Amino acid sequence: MGNNLFIFSLFRLAILFAVVFTPTILAEPRPPHNRLVFWNVGQGDFISYLSHEVCIVFDVGGSFKIPEKDLLEMRNFCPQRKVQLFISHFDKDHISNYKRLMTYLVVENSYFSHLDSRSQFGKKLLEQLKFQNSKTHQIRQGFKIKYEGVHLSCLWPPPGPLRKAENDRSLVLKLENQGRSFLFMGDLPSRCERKLPLVSAQVLKVGHHGSKYSSSSSFLKNVKASMCVVSVGRINTYGHPSPDALSRMNDNRCTILRTDLLGDITIEL
Ligand SMILES: [Zn+2]
Repeated sequence: MGNNLFIFSLFRLAILFAVVFTPTILAEPRPPHNRLVFWNVGQGDFISYLSHEVCIVFDVGGSFKIPEKDLLEMRNFCPQRKVQLFISHFDKDHISNYKRLMTYLVVENSYFSHLDSRSQFGKKLLEQLKFQNSKTHQIRQGFKIKYEGVHLSCLWPPPGPLRKAENDRSLVLKLENQGRSFLFMGDLPSRCERKLPLVSAQVLKVGHHGSKYSSSSSFLKNVKASMCVVSVGRINTYGHPSPDALSRMNDNRCTILRTDLLGDITIEL
């Protein structure tokens, strides 16, 4: 069995285990393993990397409120109840749960591609972070940070003036943990995917909830992910995920995992 296939099988087992035994896992006060969770929050993104050394949250959105039990699980996991928060962009479906997160956890540092939110919701998030004494950072391509056992790098946006469209301003982040790699695309469209530096990852959180305007075939071919996670609501008015994008993922042999069909998707690390 090739190394990639072995990792893939491990991931697959972990997901099956998590899907089948989630109630048992949640009952434990301090789960033993580090994990990456794509929370099922309807239409939007809310992802967390949980370990006893550091907790990282990638977006805090969703069309419905993240359940209290999930926040309690995060609080049990995170050292000193602190999280490092990365916001891909200021659209509501990526930030709507910020108050709930900050009720249970302290955002020690927060990272954005820009701080001039055009939405009222985004402005309120920035005010709340200030109120919680969170250190706010503006980052671009080339930014790297290392936590215990985890490397995180920013691949988008590039330095210089930002594009006008909010989706084009999405932070794209790559997380690496002991030989495993994960790519988080925010809502980046294909017109920007093609300008990214060459990047590969085993797990791809696809851009823009499986929109037909993201996940181009050439991009998927470059990334070579074995798993494509689509964070999407069961009922949405956008037609996400699009059949075109899903068939491109299939054509590139990327196993599709959808939060609308599977619920929370947990990868044990
Ligand atoms: Zn979105």
